[in-house]
This record gives sequence, C-alpha cells and structure tokens, in this order.
Amino acid sequence: MSSYDAIAELYDPWSASVVEDVAFYLEEARKSGGPVVELGVGTGRIAVPVAADGIRVMEERQPPIYIATLGRTYRRDTPSPKNTPSFHQVEALAIDRGITLADLKGTLMHFFRAMFGEGRDVRMRTSFFPFTEPSVEFDVTCFLCAGKGCPFCKYTGWFEMGGAGAVDPAVFEKMGYDPEEWSGFAWGLGLDRIAAQRHGIPDIRMFWENDLRVLRQF
Ligand SMILES: [Zn+2]
Repeated sequence: MSSYDAIAELYDPWSASVVEDVAFYLEEARKSGGPVVELGVGTGRIAVPVAADGIRVMEERQPPIYIATLGRTYRRDTPSPKNTPSFHQVEALAIDRGITLADLKGTLMHFFRAMFGEGRDVRMRTSFFPFTEPSVEFDVTCFLCAGKGCPFCKYTGWFEMGGAGAVDPAVFEKMGYDPEEWSGFAWGLGLDRIAAQRHGIPDIRMFWENDLRVLRQF
C-alpha cells in the first residue's frame, strides 16, 4: 500500500463525498490535459489540492519538516462572496519535537501581521478535519473595518481564513514516525481570501470574472 492510500484510509468519515469529488476533478483534469490532481495531507479540508506535497515530503524525509506548498485547489461549493469551487491555497506543515497549537496560533499571527499590519488578531474555533486532531478554523481581524464590524465580515469583526490543526498522531503512524516523539501542525489558507482582505475586494468571484475595470486597478 502506498503512503497516499494509507493516508487516504483516514478519510473514512468523509469517504463518499471525497471520493466523488476526487473522481470528478480527476476526470476534468484528464479532459483538459491539466495537472495531475493529488490528495492533500494538510488539514484534509480540501478534497484535491493540486500541489499538496506534504505526503511526498514525509515519504522522502525524516522530521523535523517545515514546508509550505502552493496550489490551485478544487472542491464542491456554491459560489458566494467568500467561496468559489476553484481557488488557490497555501498549505503549511510543521513537524518537530514539542510543537503545540500555541506554535500554530503564533505562526498564523506573525503571518497575518506581516501581511495585513500590526494589530491583527487571530482566533481559533474548534472544527473537524480528517488529518488533524484537534482541528480548528481560524479567523483574522477584518481588514476593512479593523474588527469594528462591516458588511464584508457580516458585522462580526472577523474574517474566516482557513482550516488548521495539530497533525493527527494516526498520520504519523501511517508514515512511520513515532507519534510519541513528533508532533506538528498543518494549515490550509486561501490566497484569494488574503488578496480580498489586502485589497478590500468584497467578493472573491471578481477574481474569476476577468472584468477589466477590476483587473486594471492592479
Ligand atoms: Zn469587517
């Protein structure tokens, strides 16, 4: 059994919908001659990140591992101001001794402050993803209103940026790492949402519409 199959076994709770998604996008990728779609190892939130290199790196190396990968990503979704069925994602994976969720939160906060300026805060909410335990979704202070509340953040002051969590020890077992020795975190973060926050774009569907009035601003 390949590492991909071993990791995919952990998908059981979502198997039906994930298998459908993978089959659909593989077929579309073949038809278009596009890149081969692979299963991501990050949070597993997204069915088929194109450039999910986590498993490959874990196959080739021993910890400590610190990687970030970028890729176009697909999932079944209804288009809305914050969701599109195809988008771009950066996945991060950190595996070392003694890594905790505090490291995850600190790293995210550092990243968002570098991207959006000091004063950004990060909050984590509990969630479920197949490859992380515990799992969280994370929000950043809304860039447009600095947390006061506006239509873009639905007056919550927060903007959802992605999914994350501590790497499930079961993943380490499948990869042959000792879960008593190693721990880690992973996240999946939408580049389109970062661009929307940074440039004050209220609807990420605008990135796909090729309206020159939008594009000429950049
Ligand atoms: Zn806001």
